[in-house]
Amino acid sequence: MITSTTGPQPADFADVRATNLAVVLRFVREHAPCSRADIAASTGLNKATVSSLVADLIDRRLVRETGLTENRVGRPATMLVLDGSPYAAIGVEINVDTVSAVATDLAGERLLTWRRSFSGGDSVNQGVAGVGAIIRRVVSRMAKEERQVLGLAVAVPGLIDVQGTVRIAPNLGWHDADIGGDLAKALRDPGFPIQVDNDANLGALAEQRFGAHAGASDLVYLTGELGVGAGIILDGRLRRGGRGYSGEIGHVQVDPEGPACHCGRRGCLEAMAGIGAVLRRDPSPAEIQVEVEEVVRLARAGDAETVGNLGAVGRSLGVGVSILANLLNPEVVILGGYYVPLAPWLLPAVHEEVAARVIASEAGGVQVVASTLGYDAAALGGAARVLDSVDSGRLPGGLSRIP
Ligand SMILES: [Zn+2]
Repeated sequence: MITSTTGPQPADFADVRATNLAVVLRFVREHAPCSRADIAASTGLNKATVSSLVADLIDRRLVRETGLTENRVGRPATMLVLDGSPYAAIGVEINVDTVSAVATDLAGERLLTWRRSFSGGDSVNQGVAGVGAIIRRVVSRMAKEERQVLGLAVAVPGLIDVQGTVRIAPNLGWHDADIGGDLAKALRDPGFPIQVDNDANLGALAEQRFGAHAGASDLVYLTGELGVGAGIILDGRLRRGGRGYSGEIGHVQVDPEGPACHCGRRGCLEAMAGIGAVLRRDPSPAEIQVEVEEVVRLARAGDAETVGNLGAVGRSLGVGVSILANLLNPEVVILGGYYVPLAPWLLPAVHEEVAARVIASEAGGVQVVASTLGYDAAALGGAARVLDSVDSGRLPGGLSRIP
């Protein structure tokens, strides 16, 4: 026991305890079912501390005890697993004509997946009102299930600064918008944190936690929407850059003689390998899905012009991917959005360019694959970001706060 008054201040104890609670929670997430002794042996925390931390996590219903197991040396141990049944994490993706919402429990199991049409392009106020209405319904569904919302993270296609302000979302026509603050007002201060992030960043977090390459510490997620952006995870962490604007690979110039880009420059990757290049025109957002399906149908039927164009798009995309591979040496580059249904025709050309352009042998070991997470990857990534906050120590309060 500490009796001295000159020792660490209470805030220090609180910080250390929160950190240790998070360490134990992460251990249980990764190794469940596991015993208190397993936690002590692997984390270096002493057994009494582990018991106290586990009691706290059980009290918060983040962890629960399951039966005894005897298949080990010594006494039978009570095993622990993640609980989290009274909680939900919500992710929302705002796109030009749709809003996707995903809710998961603490273990990442999906509770809800919604996709609604939406017209946010008119004004920020209208957009926030529309998105707010959808979020209110998700929150009320979670309340009916007696779940406390741990947090909400919203994906927006655009430049989002490190404070979460939307600096510019060209396809939505939004700029300098505090979407998080506006949503908090629209939801009448809901009592859970609201974060706003770039869609590619959240797509990358979804892949890191839920994708076919979950756990990869160096991965890049590429959005294949009207825009092309990269979410970059290096050494296990999302890398936003100084002001939050990393990953704008879509505006790296691939061909100085190439077609005009929305940004006013020429031959950007987005102009050469975005969905506009696939469809060979500037599509209206509402038509993209149908038109991409038509391209897939033609490609399957062996239509030479379609297959030839997809090969050209794939080569440009391969140039972009090899820039990423030379610069960042990721283990895997994951193609998301509309690239997924087109992957059978894009990937051969991408692989060829990567093999030819990456200086390291075997292209530095990079794999280029299509996402397995579907169109709501960024929304799922929003839920992943909320779970990341919990795993890093922002724990919900004790059960006394839950009705
Ligand atoms: Zn551009």
